Amino acid sequence: MNVVIIGCGAVGAAIAYELSLVKQLKITVIDKQPPAQASTGAALGVLMGIISHKIKGKAWRMRQTSIQRYESLIPELEELTNHKIAFNRQGILMLLARNTDSSVADEEISQWQKLTEIRHTQGYQLEVWDTAKLQNICPQVEDKKIIGAVYSPQDRQLDPTALTLALVAAAQKNGVTFKFGVNVLGITPPSQQGDICQQVETTEGNLTADWFVVAAGLGSSALSAQLNQMIDIRPVLGQALQLRLGHALGNPDFQPVITGNDVHIVPVGDGDYWVGATVEFPTNGSHEISPDTELLESIKQQAIAFCPDLAKATIIRTWSGLRPRPEGRPAPIIEKLSGFNNILLATGHYRNGILLAPATADAIREMIIAN
Ligand SMILES: Cc1cc2nc3c(=O)[nH]c(=O)nc-3n(C[C@H](O)[C@H](O)[C@H](O)COP(=O)(O)OP(=O)(O)OC[C@H]3O[C@@H](n4cnc5c(N)ncnc54)[C@H](O)[C@@H]3O)c2cc1C
Repeated sequence: MNVVIIGCGAVGAAIAYELSLVKQLKITVIDKQPPAQASTGAALGVLMGIISHKIKGKAWRMRQTSIQRYESLIPELEELTNHKIAFNRQGILMLLARNTDSSVADEEISQWQKLTEIRHTQGYQLEVWDTAKLQNICPQVEDKKIIGAVYSPQDRQLDPTALTLALVAAAQKNGVTFKFGVNVLGITPPSQQGDICQQVETTEGNLTADWFVVAAGLGSSALSAQLNQMIDIRPVLGQALQLRLGHALGNPDFQPVITGNDVHIVPVGDGDYWVGATVEFPTNGSHEISPDTELLESIKQQAIAFCPDLAKATIIRTWSGLRPRPEGRPAPIIEKLSGFNNILLATGHYRNGILLAPATADAIREMIIAN
């Protein structure tokens, strides 16, 4: 059976690799750019699974699938490709900041305590720390507004570009063909009545297949519109920066991701930290978003408020990317394109595409082998 995957961000690459482990599939991945350039190239790779508020249904199941798969996937890819993937196994520490109303703070802590109990019954650890414990373990956090923290030792962070390149290299080893620099212009609808498409039209000619997987992020809208089944995916801009401090914050042997007020401080080694990201929506129904420099500055200031040492750091890089967000429906979209029996959508992952890539690949594999 031939499978064509359109898009080679983290999602398309994860699907390609998981499908390469299934016997008798001939897989081709097409991307108009090199791998990991679009949303994936801008992501911070924070995998907020256990520390998310999702506790049941598909949203939790997907997180759980991904958390479990990453533990085996990273060593598996490292062995296959001989490349190291930066994978932070020291967990995620979420800072809880005081609101103007202290009763709100108490309520927040008691909600985290409830989540901690639920996670224990699900087989995961979560710890609520008071300020004394936080001070002791993470002395770099000096913000007086912090009333405590939640520590999630089994959550992770990784380098999304390194992950995607490793998935590509491993899939290639397993026989997958990659065509980079090739634009998919459209999927040809069936000429007679029916719901099975047979080919994609690309800038390098047509390609036939039994299955088409649309993992094209923001590009998925145009491909679905061309088949008169518009999936509306809109951009949400995120800006981030890399700070160079030259030495580790706090204890060099304990460098979890620190997060609070939706700002992540991500240790990337050698005293460098990624800080981000802004969440900027298009205005007036347009799809254009120009990065607001003040918003990036306020993200940096929030990071400094949490860890004052960061004021001494220098900015060595800033960047931005567009997250693919489904309009009017929850993220992500993993289903057959309505009206077609062999077009699978794996798109619209918005803020969690790196986290959910393995679970998405798992779901797509199940849909293909069930047929
Ligand atoms: C600043 C920022 C921080 C983020 N942080 C995190 C985080 O910490 N954790 C997390 O889980 N997620 C994070 N995300 C979200 C994450 O980046 C996305 O959800 C994820 O990258 C989506 O992956 P994707 O493969 O679906 O899309 P993309 O990476 O956008 O890839 C889509 C690919 O499809 C190709 N394509 C599109 N149309 C066509 C066509 N017609 N023909 C050929 N190729 C086509 C594009 O060239 C592109 O390579 C962040 C995003 C941003 C912007």
